[in-house]
Amino acid sequence: MDSLIPFQDLNLLPDPPISSSSTAATHLVTPKIEPKTEPFDEPPPPPAPTQQPQPPHLQPQQQEPQHFAEESPSPPGEDSLYTEFHRVSELFRTAFAKGHRRYGDVDGVDPDSRAIVPFNPEETSQLATVVKPRISYKRSSELVRVTDLGLEDERYFRDLVRRTRMTFDGVRILSMADGSSGKRVRGDLIAASLMRNRGLWLNRDKRIVGSIPGICVGDIFFYRMELVVVGLHGQTQAGIDYLPASQSSNGEPIATSVIVSGGYEDDEDSGDVIIYTGHGGQDKFSRQCVHQKLEGGNLALERSMRYGIELRVIRGIRYEGGITSKVYVYDGLYRIMDCWFDVGKSGFGVFKYKLVRIEGQPEMGSVTMRLAKSLRSSPLSVRPAGYLSLDMSMKKENVPVLLFNDIDTDNEPLYYDYLVRSVYPPFVLHQNRNATGCECISGCAEGCFCFLKNGGEFLYDQNGLLLKGKPIIFECGAFCKCPPACRNRATQRGLKHRFEIFRSRETGWGVRSLDLIQAGAFVCEYAGVVLTRDQAQIFTMNGDTLIYPSRFPAKWEEWGDLSQIFPSYVRSLYPSAPPLDFAMDVSKMRNVACYISHSTKPNVLVQRVLYDHNNISFPHLMLFAMENIPPLAELSLDYGVSDEWTGKPLLLTEGSG
Ligand SMILES: [Zn+2]
Ligand SMILES: [Zn+2]
Repeated sequence: MDSLIPFQDLNLLPDPPISSSSTAATHLVTPKIEPKTEPFDEPPPPPAPTQQPQPPHLQPQQQEPQHFAEESPSPPGEDSLYTEFHRVSELFRTAFAKGHRRYGDVDGVDPDSRAIVPFNPEETSQLATVVKPRISYKRSSELVRVTDLGLEDERYFRDLVRRTRMTFDGVRILSMADGSSGKRVRGDLIAASLMRNRGLWLNRDKRIVGSIPGICVGDIFFYRMELVVVGLHGQTQAGIDYLPASQSSNGEPIATSVIVSGGYEDDEDSGDVIIYTGHGGQDKFSRQCVHQKLEGGNLALERSMRYGIELRVIRGIRYEGGITSKVYVYDGLYRIMDCWFDVGKSGFGVFKYKLVRIEGQPEMGSVTMRLAKSLRSSPLSVRPAGYLSLDMSMKKENVPVLLFNDIDTDNEPLYYDYLVRSVYPPFVLHQNRNATGCECISGCAEGCFCFLKNGGEFLYDQNGLLLKGKPIIFECGAFCKCPPACRNRATQRGLKHRFEIFRSRETGWGVRSLDLIQAGAFVCEYAGVVLTRDQAQIFTMNGDTLIYPSRFPAKWEEWGDLSQIFPSYVRSLYPSAPPLDFAMDVSKMRNVACYISHSTKPNVLVQRVLYDHNNISFPHLMLFAMENIPPLAELSLDYGVSDEWTGKPLLLTEGSG
């Protein structure tokens, strides 16, 4: 720490002063309520007509988009993509068609669940017709700007983008999880291809200038293909996306978005102002080797400047510790203020454009990423005031859990002991006497006992990402002979992301991460002291703070849902799990999860996991990211409470959930 004043970590004080007569035990844990009304579960009816004519794309999407009917040349690599598609179809088919059996100490069996993707010979021919597409997917030439979306429309489009990205990630992770072929699998391309065949790419029927409905400044993408899938930037390679002159109604090209990656020698990026170099004339090392011409994207940028058309800017940023070396951050809208022909560093003529960020937009994602990076290395030099503790866990977690409040004097989280894992009543653990585990000394693979317990699959990929949600996941545990690094122990290795419990005016205490959390990644356990129903009743009478796990809605069902890709997809309910009938006391000990805010459209889900005992009625509640969560963005969890805040301590009243 570079701070001149010695930092007093308040969490290290033996007895934090309690200002009022209230004690920690009487504090009620109330999930924080998102100040929003209930979002749509179903796509809404078409927006009511207003004085302003609605952009045509706001009409409900048609199932079979006719605009895909035109023939256009396939992008390079298309053939291998369809080979991949076929391979993955086979993979899904064989993986899911396995019968499920009853194993050892597992008693949850759903006899009706057999295959996720039911397979019969007729389907092979259906698949075959998909493999050889007769249609291609030319983009529309209609240029629209979407403005003045109502709150409901905004919510609808945000959810549409969210679901689309979840499908993308679900297919991507699943297709990459099978490493048996030994070759590198491009899950992003497979996901994009499958989704295109199903007409699931967004915004192909219109070319949108300006903001894309449902995409927010600061959204982070790991793959260029994902930008194409959501319609943020329609080019898989080129840095400038534009409507070509040949398709434009007035015969002039119009630029809609650029990717600024900092790879070009003549680019200058100072955040709000970018000097962007046009394209053309660069060698494979991004060095200029011939003069640029005012054509294609260069001309489109120049035309956009003349017409005052705004430009979406996406920055490619190096990111260490991710599954890709680079991430793409949407940084919002810029205006092209100037354009000139210049001699570049290599001595060749280049077109330069001065892009200036439009004011009044949220903070740029790339700036937030930089801030988070500084906070990771030296929080006190970035924020000299506001930190109450630099590690609430006092080294019980792998990484620090910080406590920050710069808006008031509340320091309530200091009153609780930090609990890393849930604590179970002795009788739960006593049932372990006859427990069995797998015998995989060198690591678990297909055929392992735990693999079979999970219905013949592992639910995590090699990076520990959740492949799909399940009623319950059996991880390898104390009775298994496999090493701690086993793939099937993803939630036992502790925190990977540095979290910060912070005070906010909107949600009270909340949680954010200083690291980028990738969709599907393990976040943390929801930890507490586990109580049986009888014990819980006594505690409730004392007014203690209890969490009822049965109330968490089954958000895991949304993760890895392939029904949009395979219409006959049925989620496997095996292994099944009984309803939860326990409570957790968090009145004296708790972990970071306890401060996560409530939302009905959460970015974190609860997955039940068993590993240190075999009592299926008392699983661990493990939290996983449902989307890429940018650094410093607030985490949210659906607590299963009404959105309409009644002021009642909902977690205190017992219910069936
Ligand atoms: Zn194992
Ligand atoms: Zn094993």
